Amino acid sequence: MERFKFKKASFVSALLVTVAVVLLQFLFFFFFLELPISQFSSMLFMEFIVLLILAYILLSYSFERFLITRVRELYKSLIPTTSYTPSVGQSEDIDLLTTSLKKLNSDQNLEIELLKKEQSYRREFIGNLAHELKTPLFTVQGYVLTLVDGIEDKKIVKKYLKQTSKGVDRLIYIIKDLDLITKFESGMATLDQKPFDIIAAIENVFELLEMQASENKSVLKFDREYPEPLMVYADEERIQQVLTNLIVNSLKYGVERGVTEVSLEVLKEDKILIRIADNGEGIDEEHLHRLFERFYRVDKTRNRNQGGSGLGLAIVKHIIEAHGEKIFVESEAKVGSEFSFSLTLDRN
Ligand code: ADP
Repeated sequence: MERFKFKKASFVSALLVTVAVVLLQFLFFFFFLELPISQFSSMLFMEFIVLLILAYILLSYSFERFLITRVRELYKSLIPTTSYTPSVGQSEDIDLLTTSLKKLNSDQNLEIELLKKEQSYRREFIGNLAHELKTPLFTVQGYVLTLVDGIEDKKIVKKYLKQTSKGVDRLIYIIKDLDLITKFESGMATLDQKPFDIIAAIENVFELLEMQASENKSVLKFDREYPEPLMVYADEERIQQVLTNLIVNSLKYGVERGVTEVSLEVLKEDKILIRIADNGEGIDEEHLHRLFERFYRVDKTRNRNQGGSGLGLAIVKHIIEAHGEKIFVESEAKVGSEFSFSLTLDRN
């Protein structure tokens, strides 16, 4: 049952109308027909009461109907897709509409906040990208302009051409990494998953990075011997890339005569955890949660000179997550870092 609500505006309007009608009748009976008041006063009084009640019911119904129709129009123009159609005449509709509009308002505020965040993220990304491309581009431009001016010495010409080529290589390297990330983010990157031996894959990466490791007399090793192959089910090429990026970082941010140690731990439910630990410069805790973001760097000036694109860890995370696996990082400044990720064992 609908609860009775006294509507003041309707009552005042009904009262005014009733008073006007009764007054007109009074004037008509008294002045025009010249009847004595006692003859029509009780009739007018009764009429006043009945008219007041009828006018009140009629006006409050029309007011409500008018209001709800207007509010509904407003509601629909705000949320055109709404399936909600209030039935005219129910006063709860106004409360319902108010609640819905309040919710809509808070939803929109949330959406605006999200858009603002996205906008600032995009701005930061474009700024970082421009910064990243600027250095090699200016290097290339500098050498090319000098060469255009003309240099006699053939040795210097060759040296400058080599530097130009390095700059171009670096540009290509950044663009390729970006392209790969975009493919992962848009879901266009595919995985070619097959069983392969993860021990052999790690040994392969060790071999490829041997030269780089020997440059600062660092050692790449397993924590113990792994005499048996350990078969995992994943995209071998992509996992080699993950291993390469993580081991290269352990060298880049390692100390002289540092040690990079890889260990494997078989977990339950057919999972394996691969750990890459170093005793390098480490990372302060405040940076850890942003480490896998594109272009995020702990030391903005130093690391760029070491040749990375700032996308290495972002790529690693995308590859691991595309496999449905997880990546973790633990680190302590001046002590070292440990990156670990899970893979699924091939039990066939
Ligand atoms: P890049 O190495 O090109 O700067 P990455 O995405 O590979 O980009 O790494 C992001 C940042 O994480 C690096 O700039 C570095 O500050 C930090 N980092 C990554 N790996 C290590 C590590 N093993 N030890 C210390 N810092 C690391």
